[in-house]
Amino acid sequence: MPEETIFSKIIRKEIPSDIVYQDDLVTAFRDISPQAPVHVLIVPNHLIPSVNDVTDDDEAVMGRMMNVARIIAEQEGITESGYRLIVNCGPDGHQDVMHLHMHILGGRDMGFMLSRP
Ligand code: AMP
Repeated sequence: MPEETIFSKIIRKEIPSDIVYQDDLVTAFRDISPQAPVHVLIVPNHLIPSVNDVTDDDEAVMGRMMNVARIIAEQEGITESGYRLIVNCGPDGHQDVMHLHMHILGGRDMGFMLSRP
């Protein structure tokens, strides 16, 4: 069994967080260290450590995450201005929390997709 992270406690509301959306499959809450005026994380309610651990059985929840990104964009008023969705995976992707999550970032021009050193 993969080890739970702090996100499981957030999903179960065992610790404080700013949850903006929750249903039977996913939970969305504001990032504790926002990188943009809107920075929300969308996570599956059951623990999937990373994209590397996604299975055929997870297709419904993966689709729900994308649909909820659209709903949150509407809630946050950034549908027209636009936003960026990011899913980090593994060391090179700089994934810090091993509970798969999608970042939704917006409310300002997010710049080029990747930094260009
Ligand atoms: P990643 O680098 O893709 O794994 O992103 C992890 C994100 O989780 C970072 O943006 C953190 O700021 C965020 N984060 C970590 N702990 C919490 C928390 N307790 N509540 C909300 N966001 C968190």
